[in-house]
This record gives sequence, C-alpha cells and structure tokens, in this order.
Amino acid sequence: MTSAAEHRPIRLLIHGANGRMGRAVRRIAATDARFEIVGIVSRATPEMRVVDGIPFFAASELPAVPEFDVAIDFSLPEAFDGILGECVKRAAALVSGTTGIDDAQRAALESASSKIPLVWASNFSLGVALLHQLVETAAARLPGWDCDIVESHHVHKKDAPSGTALTLGAAAEASGAKPHYASLRAGDIVGEHLVQFTGQGERIELIHRATDRDIFARGAVHAAAWLQGRPAGRYKMADTLSDL
Ligand code: NAD
Repeated sequence: MTSAAEHRPIRLLIHGANGRMGRAVRRIAATDARFEIVGIVSRATPEMRVVDGIPFFAASELPAVPEFDVAIDFSLPEAFDGILGECVKRAAALVSGTTGIDDAQRAALESASSKIPLVWASNFSLGVALLHQLVETAAARLPGWDCDIVESHHVHKKDAPSGTALTLGAAAEASGAKPHYASLRAGDIVGEHLVQFTGQGERIELIHRATDRDIFARGAVHAAAWLQGRPAGRYKMADTLSDL
C-alpha cells in the first residue's frame, strides 16, 4: 500500500520509550530510513529535553508533541488511554503492544478503530502468529482433550496471565477447547508460551520461546510502516505478515 506521505519519512512517535520495549523500538526505528522519530514520550519529565535532535516529553505533555503519522506504544495500562486518545485526536495510526488493558480499554480500542488504522497485538512475533494457527487447528481436531497454557516471563512483568497467553487461549476457546492457565515469573525470561493438549495416554506440546525482545520491536516497527495509508480499522499482526 502506498504511503500518504510517499516522499517523506513516516513521522513516528514512540510512547513508553524508556522501558525495555521502548528502548528496543527506539534503537531499531533510528536506523530505519522509512521513519523519522519526531518525539519520545516517557512517564516522568525527561532529564534531557533533546537527544540526537529528537525531543523528549513527559506523559503529561502528550498534547504538545509534534505532528506524527503513527505512534508505537509499549507502556502500561494506565498510560494507554492517553496515547489512544491522542492518536484519534490527530487522526494518526497506532501500533500498541501494551498488555493488561481492561474491558473498557478494549472497547475504546474497538471504537477508535472506526476512526484510525491500528494494530494492537499481545505479541508482535512472527512465530507466535503461526502458533495461533497451530493452536486453532489442534483445538478443533482434538475435541475433549485438556488444554493448558503455561507462560513464563521475567520477574518484572506485572500482568498475568500474559496478554499472549490470553490471546492464544481465546483462539483455542473459539475452536472448542476450554483452556486453563498457569504463569511463572522467573529471572530474565523474555517470554515462553507452552500450549499443551492432553488426551488419554498422549500429549501434544506446542511451545514458542522468545530469546530476544528485538523480535517484538521489529514486528511493531514493521506494523507501523504497514499501516501507512490504510483506511481506519483494527488490523491483526497476521494481516501485516503477507508483506514480510
Ligand atoms: P517496562 O516496565 O520496561 O516499560 C514500561 C514503560 O512505560 C516505562 O518506560 C514507563 O516509564 C512507561 N510509562 C508508564 N506510564 C507512562 C505514561 N503515563 N506515559 C508514557 N509512558 C509511561 O515494560 P516493557 O517490558 O517495556 O513492556 C511494556 C509493555 O509492553 C507491557 O505491557 C508488556 O507486557 C508489553 N509487551 C508487549 C510485547 C508485544 O509483543 N506485544 C512484548 C513485550 C512486552
């Protein structure tokens, strides 16, 4: 799809920029010629106002950020409403990987998608997009088998079960399974998801292990470029994969 701004880089705002994911997005987008980073937003007032020519903002200053075409958001649920509202106000696209959002925030996301193009994904990795399809197939073909989802993450992760576990569970449920969840928080695990189907005397284990969070940041940056020029709507990560 051609970009509305074909002859200039895509103006990118990075929200939640000092976190583990935000830093990875900054590093990857900074070397991607398709983008110009026009602003960086983090929770607190930044110590440095401009770094490498890029202005930094506190969350409270969001209304004052320069014009942008797309925002990439990896923050926390309490920060989500702010960036969603700002994207709608500016008619800018949104790529968000913030997990732990509640039902009201999901409804707001759905309603925003009638005004702006957006991708919200609990997991931006290619492998997990494929895992969804495998889970749907297994759940549909193995009626009556137990379905268990075990997710493991680093000790700093706040929400549990992970957004990815819940999305995988929803896929299993839509195909007839009744998933149960277990969460482990240990050390520096980037992210592991095991979906296990257990029958009488046999078991299938589908597992995805992320060893580098750059895969999520690259996926989000890819989705941000893919959204340019798209009509308003809520797109899935899988929709963007045909262009990889
Ligand atoms: P983190 O705790 O390292 O970073 C969170 C960042 O959000 C911090 O920099 C914090 O300052 C910032 N923040 C908090 N309140 C804010 C506000 N009001 N305005 C702006 N920024 C604010 O967490 P992380 O590991 O970087 O993960 C961030 C989010 O992304 C979490 O929800 C996590 O579950 C999710 N995540 C998603 C994927 C995916 O592929 N979808 C992958 C990894 C992590």
